[in-house]
Amino acid sequence: MIVFFRLLTFMRPREHVIHPAGQLPLPVAQFLRLRDQIPWLYGLLATNSVILAYTHRAVAPTTLTITVPAVLILATLVRMAMWLTPIRAEDLAVAKVEAKLRSAVAVAVALAIGFVTWALGLDQYGNAWEHGHVAIYVAVTVLGCIFCLNYLPLAATLVGVTVIGTFLVYALLQQTEILIAIAINIGLVAAMILKLLNDSYHGFVDLELAQRDLHRKRRQAQALGTENARLAETDALTGLPNRRFFFAMLDSMIEQASADHSFCVGLIDLDRFKPINDTHGHAQGDRLLQIIGERLQSSRPDDVIVARLGGDEFGLIINGGADKAEAIANSLCTAVRAPVRLGDLGVSVGCSAGLVVFPQAGTTAHALYDRADFALYHAKNQKRGQCVRFSGELENLIRTEQALEAALQGADLQTELRLAFQPIVYTDTLEVVSVEGLARWTSPRLGVVSPEQLIQTAERVGRAREVTLTLFDKALVSLARLPANVRLSFNLSGIDLGDPGTIEALLSRIGQEHHLAHRLVFEITESSLIAEIEAAEVALRRLRAVGAQIALDDFGTGYSSLSSLHMLPLDIVKIDRSFATRLDEPSGRRLIAAIRNLARALSLDCVIEGIETESQLIGARLGGFTLAQGYYMHRPLEMADILRLLAPAPTASPHPRNRFG
Ligand code: C2E
Ligand code: CA
Ligand code: CA
Repeated sequence: MIVFFRLLTFMRPREHVIHPAGQLPLPVAQFLRLRDQIPWLYGLLATNSVILAYTHRAVAPTTLTITVPAVLILATLVRMAMWLTPIRAEDLAVAKVEAKLRSAVAVAVALAIGFVTWALGLDQYGNAWEHGHVAIYVAVTVLGCIFCLNYLPLAATLVGVTVIGTFLVYALLQQTEILIAIAINIGLVAAMILKLLNDSYHGFVDLELAQRDLHRKRRQAQALGTENARLAETDALTGLPNRRFFFAMLDSMIEQASADHSFCVGLIDLDRFKPINDTHGHAQGDRLLQIIGERLQSSRPDDVIVARLGGDEFGLIINGGADKAEAIANSLCTAVRAPVRLGDLGVSVGCSAGLVVFPQAGTTAHALYDRADFALYHAKNQKRGQCVRFSGELENLIRTEQALEAALQGADLQTELRLAFQPIVYTDTLEVVSVEGLARWTSPRLGVVSPEQLIQTAERVGRAREVTLTLFDKALVSLARLPANVRLSFNLSGIDLGDPGTIEALLSRIGQEHHLAHRLVFEITESSLIAEIEAAEVALRRLRAVGAQIALDDFGTGYSSLSSLHMLPLDIVKIDRSFATRLDEPSGRRLIAAIRNLARALSLDCVIEGIETESQLIGARLGGFTLAQGYYMHRPLEMADILRLLAPAPTASPHPRNRFG
């Protein structure tokens, strides 16, 4: 029987209705539990009835041993089949389930009446053994059924009451003491079992309710967690997705990317944001960022992601190729550039953008970001206000930068660095007044590297101070070898000026060679002053205090006006070599003369740089410049050549001038 029944249960197709405790309405949970037990009930009922009919086959009429039991057992088998049919999710609607439970109660009572009446009918036949079998059949079967109905207490109780009640009435009518006693025994046991079942049913209900509560709380916690996760991926100021989201998104797009699908990553950086933030305050700066964030959000196409990556930098992820992405980036930049009203204030910021294409520019989120950043950096420096695509040309530039960094990181500065010296001369006699030390780096790996690249790379790899001090030591050694009437100019970068450690080290070296201090000139550029004007000014004053002079290099290429220069502790102005070419034309000469007059009014000496032709030299002389520097007179030279050049010749001037400008 059990094997047969297992087979039946096994044949029931697997249901995909998952019903862990507490996640379904109570009647549904109840119904699903019942489904596991009711087929056992019918199995028990049918089997016991077959056995009872069988033991009475010789004593009772066939109506009672075959016909009636066959009908009753057929009814149970039909019901069993119904309970075993797979259910679909829509069958679990609460109303439907409640109806099924009600009909289960009715069917249970009807079958109880049917079977008990049949059993008592059989009891009319046979001897004491057969009567005993009927009593045991009724007792055992009803208790078994009550057990199986424990998730439907009403049915269990009604079945119990119906069967045992009928049996008791029958016993009373028979007036058989032993039957009455059996009925009372069964009744007591059934009552106790019903009580226990009832308790366990209430336990089940409580558990379901408790689990339901737990699930509700868990769902709330989950919702809260989702909200937290959303907040963790949102930029608090603009409400745009933040950096974390941007990179997570990039990672997942890279992971899912297929060969025929490309996307672009863009970076937008605001121009002139910092001055607005500094001048109008951070609150206004924040408001401006919010407005720009809203504009980006509302101007972006639906499939474009705009995130704020920090500060005034925004990131874009754009599905599609470079042309489409560039058009979108440009239209977003146009939206950013529209004037913004902040209270009574009207401001406008510019923006530049860098763009890379996946997978050409890189296959990891960080590689893509770095290259987009490089393209952006390039846009800001070379093509301000435009969108620059990362290209092979930029790739080479990166490679060059990386190679330079690697080479400088491992460089032996003492042997790889040296100075070349370019004289500065009087325009009339061409006599050398001073020499400018110019850095030369010959890398064993890369060959000769320009001084600009040396200085920039040194800043990037953090060896700026070392480079400057190595060069300065060499400069001091050279200065000591130069005739006493010749000075030496040494170039300082913005980083040098902003680094008190470097200035301290320079001063300490000058202190050791203090007799040379008055022959030193430090050349600085305007751009080196811009970054940290206060620190730079302090540094300049300290250098000047020990007797060195200060020259402002490349004058005319920056933004400052000469009149603002009187604030700075300067001695000399070097007019940028771009002006030298203009010495040939009258308007250029007038402009240069004006600069010279102003310098003179401020008691600054003037050097004109980049003299490449005789006519430029004559122009400089006629323009009133006493000092000049340039390839026409001398290219940068080795120290030995400088010494040879300065060696007193028999025709040397009997009264050498000892003055710089
Ligand atoms: P700078 O200080 O303006 O130096 C003058 C540069 O112009 C030198 O280039 C020099 O060779 C070049 N030059 C001189 N006369 C002429 C001319 O008639 N025509 C043309 N076309 N060019 C001329 P160099 O040596 O390549 O140096 C370039 C820049 O590198 C320097 O510009 C300076 O800013 C920087 N630099 C050089 N040495 C150092 C250093 O030791 N420290 C720092 N911080 N910067 C240095
Ligand atoms: Ca210089
Ligand atoms: Ca210069």
